[in-house]
Amino acid sequence: HAKADGRGTFRFFEPDMDAQLQARRALEVNLRKAMGAGEFELFYQPQINIGANEIGGYEALLRWHHPERGLVPPGEFIPVIENTGLIVPLGDWVIEQACREAAGWPRNIHVAVNLSPVQFRSRGLVQSVSRALAESGLAPERLELEITESVLLQDNEMTVSTLHQLRRLGVRIAMDDFGTGYSSLSYLRSFPFDKIKIDQSFVREMSQRADCLAIVQSVANLGRSLGMPTVAEGVETEDQLRQIQAAGCTDAQGYYFGRPKPPQELVHTLAALKHTVKVA
Ligand code: C2E
Ligand code: MG
Ligand code: MG
Ligand code: MG
Repeated sequence: HAKADGRGTFRFFEPDMDAQLQARRALEVNLRKAMGAGEFELFYQPQINIGANEIGGYEALLRWHHPERGLVPPGEFIPVIENTGLIVPLGDWVIEQACREAAGWPRNIHVAVNLSPVQFRSRGLVQSVSRALAESGLAPERLELEITESVLLQDNEMTVSTLHQLRRLGVRIAMDDFGTGYSSLSYLRSFPFDKIKIDQSFVREMSQRADCLAIVQSVANLGRSLGMPTVAEGVETEDQLRQIQAAGCTDAQGYYFGRPKPPQELVHTLAALKHTVKVA
């Protein structure tokens, strides 16, 4: 069909591809400008160790202060940026910034950083992490890298090798959003993880849906038998806290304990630590 249309088809597609390329270049330029102009910031959300009744660490969550659009959540720009490969320089910045900020906290708690699958598969990841640790002086065991199951879909040697190299640096690996991907329990056996984060969708629904509660309970049991801490994500109410506690989750994260906050507010929270934790 294309052949029959001859040059007509060619001319029809050319401007389209051109427009795509231009949009991509524009995004690249905007992104680099935004990075240079300091439009990106990391917010931090507490992760509570239920047994100790303390903040065990904070998850770094990326925010874009867009000059016209205001505060843009990551769900709106990370998927776009991932398609361009620009997630790698931005992701490197996130790792560096999180390490730098956490190194200045008044307590030796951990900082969790999200890695996109594209970033995980990029060649320089291990070196970027190692450099960020060296430059910030952050103790490696204070850095936790959150990856999702989609990273493991490419169950190849490189994935396993990268995970091992990261762990050899001394950093910890957490499985994020567990239960939402193509979950396979064998992932937990064949890959070296330190922590399981139960996706917030199960926590949100568990009071109305027995199957969601059953999943939360099974993952908590699994974590206990594998010696892995389990974090319940998206805890918003005291009832949910009681339920995940009864289910045997070791840690909790969610609006009940605190929303993601800019770094300057965090320092105050850390100074008055005990007062901010409301474990029942
Ligand atoms: P995530 O890693 O699963 O992070 C948790 C998300 O749930 C955050 O959304 C957080 O604000 C939100 N959340 C926390 N507690 C509650 C709660 O009690 N209720 C509800 N409804 N939501 C809660 P956020 O900050 O919009 O981030 C969304 C996703 O974007 C993250 O999901 C993560 O996958 C990605 N992301 C964020 N920062 C980065 C980053 O620096 N790099 C990469 N690659 N991805 C990032
Ligand atoms: Mg996460
Ligand atoms: Mg999550
Ligand atoms: Mg998520």
